[in-house]
Formats: sequence, structure tokens, C-alpha cells
Amino acid sequence: MRIGILALQGAFAEHAAVLDRLGTEHFLIRQLRDIKLPFDSLILPGGESTTMGKLLRDLELFTPLAGMIREGLPVFGTCAGLILLAQEVEGGAPCFGTMGITARRNAYGRQLGSFYTEATFRGLGRVPMTFIRAPYIQAVSPGVEILAEVDGHIVAARQGSQLVTAFHPELTDDLPFTDTSCR
Ligand code: GLN
Repeated sequence: MRIGILALQGAFAEHAAVLDRLGTEHFLIRQLRDIKLPFDSLILPGGESTTMGKLLRDLELFTPLAGMIREGLPVFGTCAGLILLAQEVEGGAPCFGTMGITARRNAYGRQLGSFYTEATFRGLGRVPMTFIRAPYIQAVSPGVEILAEVDGHIVAARQGSQLVTAFHPELTDDLPFTDTSCR
């Protein structure tokens, strides 16, 4: 298992640290030549989705990665990564647009947008959830499985090999979750 972590901006180092703890082989994707060798799955970290979207295009990573995701490369998007995968972004343009969800950016307000809670995650029981200026999922298409909700809003979902969380599991000491999500 070799996992690529998009490392243009944002919380990629935290994902790398978790994969180090799990002993899972991984590498950082910073430019086109980083994705020449095959890999098994992709992590899109938190950060600023608009900045990441721009850098993806500037660095010519957008088209090859979009193709791989469409062809079924397993992908895990956290926070901004969720926004990158969303087919619709409220008040903004989609990036990869491969997942049948509508993302609402900065959904909890800009100032009070960071908080910690625990909620039930389908199949895993209660998990810690750290939200940082997070989106939530406003709507899902048929075929999208809802995995977790907080205060009536969808915060985790899966569609085929695409998994997204509005929160940052890599920021909490929660290896069972991360282990499952990266498989
Ligand atoms: N607010 C950011 C965005 O809209 C996401 C924040 C995060 O990834 N922690 O892209």
C-alpha cells in the first residue's frame, strides 16, 4: 500500500505523521513528476480549497489526478479535500467534482468555525472530531452513503472509493478511524 498525499498547501504533514505511526508507505505530491510511479490511494488534506484548486491547475496536476479519481483511485478528502471532491460547492466553483455531494464552505461561520466534538461514525462508534473553518455537506446524490452527522448536518460520507470528512481525523489521536479510512 502506497499512499500519495497532496502537499501543495495545508495540513499534509499531519496526514504524513499519522501514516508514519501506522507504518504505511506514503509520499508527498508537490509536482507532476511525483505521480509518475503508481500508487494505491490519495489523500486530499485540509487547507484552503480555492488555493489548492489554483495550484493543482498551475502545476498541471489537476487533469491527471481528476482522471485517476474518476477511474476509481481510492481518495480520502478531509475538510478542504471534501470541497475539492464535491460536485457542487455552494457559492463557488467545483474542483474535481467527482463526488455527488454539495459542500457548503465555512459552514459554521468564519469566527466560530473551529470546534471539537464527538459523534457517531457509521461502523466505528463514537469518534473525536476536530473542525477548523469546516464545510458541511448540504445535499447528497443517490448512491452517497452518509457516515456521520453533527447537529443535523452531514460531516462524513462515502461514494464508491471516495471518502470525505468535514473534520480532521489526522489531528486527533484516533488511529482506528484513520486506519479504516485509508484502506
Ligand atoms: N475553509 C477552508 C476552505 O474553504 C477549509 C478549512 C480546512 O480545510 N480546515 O477551503
